[in-house]
Amino acid sequence: MKQVNKIYINGKFVNPHGTEILEIINPSDNKKIGEAILADETDVRNAVVTAKEAFKTFSQTTVEERVLYLEKLKEAVEKKQDELTEIMIEEYGGTRQFSTISSRYTGSWFDSMAEVLKNFKFGKMINSSLVKLQPVGVVGMITPWNASSSSIASKVATAIAAGCTSVIKASEMSSLQTMVLMEAFHEAGLPEGAVNFVTGLGNVVGTELIRNPDVAKISFTGSTAVGKMIAGNAACTMKRVTLELGGKSPNIILDDADLDQVIPMAVYGAYMNSGQACIAPTRLLVPEHKLDQVNRIAKMTAEQMVVGLPQDEKTQIGPMVSVRQYERVQSFIEAGLEEGALLLAGGPGKPQGLEAGNFVKPTIFTGVKNDMKIAREEIFGPVLSIISYKNEEEAIAIANDTPYGLAAYISSSDPERAMDIASKIDAGRICINGFSHDPMVPFGGFKQSGIGREYGEFGLQHYLEAKAILK
Ligand code: NAD
Repeated sequence: MKQVNKIYINGKFVNPHGTEILEIINPSDNKKIGEAILADETDVRNAVVTAKEAFKTFSQTTVEERVLYLEKLKEAVEKKQDELTEIMIEEYGGTRQFSTISSRYTGSWFDSMAEVLKNFKFGKMINSSLVKLQPVGVVGMITPWNASSSSIASKVATAIAAGCTSVIKASEMSSLQTMVLMEAFHEAGLPEGAVNFVTGLGNVVGTELIRNPDVAKISFTGSTAVGKMIAGNAACTMKRVTLELGGKSPNIILDDADLDQVIPMAVYGAYMNSGQACIAPTRLLVPEHKLDQVNRIAKMTAEQMVVGLPQDEKTQIGPMVSVRQYERVQSFIEAGLEEGALLLAGGPGKPQGLEAGNFVKPTIFTGVKNDMKIAREEIFGPVLSIISYKNEEEAIAIANDTPYGLAAYISSSDPERAMDIASKIDAGRICINGFSHDPMVPFGGFKQSGIGREYGEFGLQHYLEAKAILK
């Protein structure tokens, strides 16, 4: 039985003041694998006092010192890569394929931010005045369960680069993964108090972070519902906020695309991270006259997907993180059926032989209308909606007809045509012909997918305040 009984404050592993115990459940079989003692408001307050004190000196460190810290963090996290992969499989149910890549990326966030930092200008002259960018202060970081280590690493890397100190509230459902990161961060030998961890419940630890007047900024990744509440409450102390929220990303397949190539990719994309991905292309927009061909290829692809135990290297779709998440996905599948969408693959219930865990059948609905619930709301499971369009204008209109604007995807054999459509889509990240990743370019959402940007120099700017010194 695994135990998470420490939090990390002022460079030390300490017993939490909080006493509430959370059972840690393996989503592959719903058996208990451990317990975590959760932090409470007092723990948050202690961590914030420490981070505030550490900020006095950490904010004065040189770029060279902070680059060194980032390099040490990368090294320390990379040493834990295999441990992180295994714990992500066990605690989260992430497939081995996905967890391995995710753990590898965790270290790379420190690398890319070190590169940004080396070239970043923290001040410039405008006329005869100096405009200085200075670190915003103590940053409260609140992260989700579906990409825990990457979320934490990218936020902490940016805070370190800026000269900010941080208090991290990872998802309580990622307690074991957080413990591995805490140990790695400790090994990196940062100044005491620069990075603190208080794992606990959102409505306890998260609420105190958002309320605490000594926290200057909240960097949140999670659902749109919680993001809205944070934005409202953070305004009481005028905190800066970065909100990375949900999505319902369109994947526009143009009539000149090679369907045999792009449709299987579209299905894999929708099921990335077992469908629990904010950027998953969950609305597949296809030309009406090609719908039959698309349906045939998509159905075949979904039926060949390997759903299974996440430990198995061949598994492409693992369990949902919790029974609650499984039930949520099931309710959307039921809603799709009730609304009259045509079930092409999968459907309600669990795949045969996997009844003990939170497994969902890879599901595709076709003939979906964009006003159906399954096309409007984020499902966060392996459920794809195929929507047909008559012409390019209609494809763009459907793509933009959503409260979200996190990502979008376009497939075409004509790069200029794809570029033209990209310029008309309201989303923070648009990938043409594939699922590219670049940690240097900004990431974040239009509309209800969030506020602000993360990654690269755009991300760094969000941890800084501009100060004009006029002479
Ligand atoms: P969630 O919003 O339920 O929880 C996210 C974090 O907020 C957790 O740490 C949780 O404990 C905390 N929280 C919950 N209630 C809170 C409250 N009242 N006050 C303060 N904190 C609170 O999200 P989740 O279910 O953990 O993650 C899935 C969601 O995250 C999806 O909507 C997904 O799209 C989104 N997400 C977005 C991105 C992105 O970069 N845009 C990346 C990953 C996940």
